[in-house]
Amino acid sequence: MAVAEERPILITGGAGFIGSAVARTATARGDAVVILDALTYAACIDNLAGIADNRHYAFEKGDIRDRACLDRIFSTYRPRSVIHLAAESHVDRSIDAPSAFIDTNVTGTFQLLEAACAYRDQSHCPEGFRFLHVSTDEVYGSLSAGDPAFTETTRYEPNSPYSASKAGSDHLVRAYQHTFGLQVTTSNCSNNYGPYQFPEKLIPLCLTRILDGGQIPVYGDGSNIRDWLYVTDHARGIANILESGKAGEVYNIGGHNEWANLDIVRLLCRVMDERFAADEALAMRFPNAPQSRGANSDALIEFVTDRAGHDWRYAIDASKIERELGFVPDETFETGLAQTVDWYLNNEAWWRPLLS
Ligand code: NAD
Repeated sequence: MAVAEERPILITGGAGFIGSAVARTATARGDAVVILDALTYAACIDNLAGIADNRHYAFEKGDIRDRACLDRIFSTYRPRSVIHLAAESHVDRSIDAPSAFIDTNVTGTFQLLEAACAYRDQSHCPEGFRFLHVSTDEVYGSLSAGDPAFTETTRYEPNSPYSASKAGSDHLVRAYQHTFGLQVTTSNCSNNYGPYQFPEKLIPLCLTRILDGGQIPVYGDGSNIRDWLYVTDHARGIANILESGKAGEVYNIGGHNEWANLDIVRLLCRVMDERFAADEALAMRFPNAPQSRGANSDALIEFVTDRAGHDWRYAIDASKIERELGFVPDETFETGLAQTVDWYLNNEAWWRPLLS
């Protein structure tokens, strides 16, 4: 059966890091999916290679800011729901060049909501059509050491152009429920890590720098704290919300897993040193890695000028999704990191071209 006849889930940003995990999770559950992605620098079509031959999968290259494209996708595929992940997602880039963040995250989300509302009002839109907006814990601002973790009712205090643009999109999504009756849910998740993450983000940056013997930059004194969740757990959380979450509700998703940046970097250095010690072939495959000349990974750590406006701590109170939807992460940080390290060791062909 053609995907268009299966009432697929429309996944925006599905060629990115989290979107591709969401697509893999959905197809593994037997759901049909259609992906809409503009294939920006952050996308990699190979992220979807594992499902490319799945007959319940379709891919459309297109931009969420392009209303005509969105109308065509809705009328061609008549999706039963939307999972909206397409975004500019890297905080550092939002400081260097914020305009793309406003364009995609705010204007793009607005266009998608408009198109979704128009589709919802057509007779071919299935009953119970839902819109799930994937957002971030960064919209809540920054915490001090003793502050309680963010709940779904924590006041929004975004501090970077990235988090402000995501906050803007969250408010638009809420308004389209309140004013136009679109059936929406929003999820605010903590930092993700795992396979297929673009190597500009902390964990893959650290791993690929170690393998190439490059500097591992740590902002400020490295004390900034983030909560970390394995990407497939996030994808499962999203699936749970789509299936059982209440329209109009917000769900925080987190890993009960707070780490200072410097501690994560040191942990990754230790794990990589252990991998090289256990497997002599790694030194031959990665001759620039410090282990190949008898040094340890942490020799590469270099403290650099702090990020402008760097939020000090994020922490997620994920008790609502646990209580109401029974969602808890499957992976511990230990198991998730081990899988991530293995993946980057075994998939140089994926990450190497992205370094340039
Ligand atoms: P990513 O940068 O890896 O992927 C984003 C995807 O969106 C890319 O495939 C890109 O091509 C696509 N895209 C960008 N602009 C587009 C446009 N105008 N039209 C269509 N597609 C476009 O990001 P990610 O880390 O996978 O994050 C996905 C979503 O999850 C984002 O909305 C992000 O805010 C949110 N989020 C990310 C994290 C995290 O730790 N990475 C945590 C919480 C929430």
